[in-house]
Amino acid sequence: MILVYAESIDGNFKKSTLEAVSYAAGIAQSNGTQCVVVSIGHVDDAKLAELGNYGADKVVAVNSSKLAVFNAEAYAKAFASVAAAEGATVVVVSNTYSGKAIAGRVAAKLKAGIASGVISVPNTSNGFVVRKSVFSGKAFADVNLTTAIKVLAITPNTFDTHTFGKTANLTTADCGLSDADFISSSVEISRVTGKIPLTEAELVVSAGRGMKGPEHWGIIEELAQVLGAATACSKPVSDMHWRPHSEHVGQTGITIKPNLYIAIGISGAIQHLAGVSSSKVIVAINKDPEAPFFKAADYGIVADAFDVLPRILDAAKKLKAAN
Ligand SMILES: Cc1cc2nc3c(=O)[nH]c(=O)nc-3n(C[C@H](O)[C@H](O)[C@H](O)COP(=O)(O)OP(=O)(O)OC[C@H]3O[C@@H](n4cnc5c(N)ncnc54)[C@H](O)[C@@H]3O)c2cc1C
Repeated sequence: MILVYAESIDGNFKKSTLEAVSYAAGIAQSNGTQCVVVSIGHVDDAKLAELGNYGADKVVAVNSSKLAVFNAEAYAKAFASVAAAEGATVVVVSNTYSGKAIAGRVAAKLKAGIASGVISVPNTSNGFVVRKSVFSGKAFADVNLTTAIKVLAITPNTFDTHTFGKTANLTTADCGLSDADFISSSVEISRVTGKIPLTEAELVVSAGRGMKGPEHWGIIEELAQVLGAATACSKPVSDMHWRPHSEHVGQTGITIKPNLYIAIGISGAIQHLAGVSSSKVIVAINKDPEAPFFKAADYGIVADAFDVLPRILDAAKKLKAAN
C-alpha cells in the first residue's frame, strides 16, 4: 500500500499535495495496490473526498486542536503511526519545507530507506530505483532503496496531477499524541498574504541586485500582478532586506520549477541557478551580454531593466486587456 502525506494550509490542500497523490496513485495502480492519503490538521470532508479525484482510495484524517499548527515531531509521529497501522510499504511526501521536515523523521521511525528530491517514478525491474537530483540540480543519482518500507520525497512541480475519478473512503485516526510529543512549538507565524505562494506559482517574476534598491520593486510587483505571477529574488537582495527572505530562491533558498521564470538584473550565479534551472522556460533580462544567466535562459533580452521593464509591463497590460 502506498501512503501519502497531504499538506494543507487553512484547510486547503496544496498543489504539491495533489501532485503527490496522483504520483502515488499511479504507482499504486501499476502495482495493483491501494493509495491511502493521510491529512493532518483540519480539512473539511468535501475537500478530503476530492482527493479521490486525484487517485486516493482512502483518506485518513488525523485531526485534533493540538495539530492545528504544523509541528514536525508530532506530525511525523502521527503519520508514522498511520503508516504502521495501514501497513504502508511506500510513503510519498512532497519535498516541501514541511514534507522535508517529516520525511526523515518518518523514515527513522519506520526504519525505512529514504530518497529526497525524487524526480522519477520507481523502476522496479531490478530493485526499487528512483532518480533524484543532486549537487543542487547539476547532476542526477539513481538510488536503489533496499528496505522493506521506502520513503520518497518528490520534487514539487515535477509530476502532473491526474484525474482518476475515484470516490475516496473517509476515515479518521486518533494517534494518541500527548504533550510529550510536542517538544517544540511555533511561537509566532507570520505569513505573506494576498500573494501567490512562490512554491505554488506557475509564473515567477524575479529580480536581483541589478534593480539597485528596494524602491524600484514597484514595477516588478506590478508586472507579477498583471501576469498572475509570484515574485522572487536573489540572495543578496533578501540579505540586504530589499525583499523578504521568503522570496529568496537558489541553493540556500527555495527551489522552484515554474512554467516561466523571468530573471531581471540577476547575474545567474550557479548558486542562484541551482534553485531555478528546472523552470520550463527561462527569460533573462540583463544589461551585460556576458551575464552567465544567458547560458541557462531560453530567451534573453540584453537591455537596461529600467528601460525595458516599462515596455514589457505595457505589453503585458495590453495582452491582458485583449484577453
Ligand atoms: C554558499 C553560497 C550560497 C549561495 N546561495 C545563493 C542562493 O541561494 N541564491 C542566490 O541568488 N545567490 C546565492 N549565492 C550568491 C551568488 O553566488 C551570487 O552572489 C548572487 O546570486 C548574485 O546576486 P545577483 O545576481 O542579484 O547580483 P549580482 O551578482 O550583483 O548581479 C547583478 C546583475 O544585474 C545586472 N544589472 C545591473 N544593472 C542592471 C540594469 N540596470 N538592468 C539589467 N541588468 C542589470 C548585472 O549585469 C549583473 O549581472 C550564494 C553564494 C554562496 C557562496
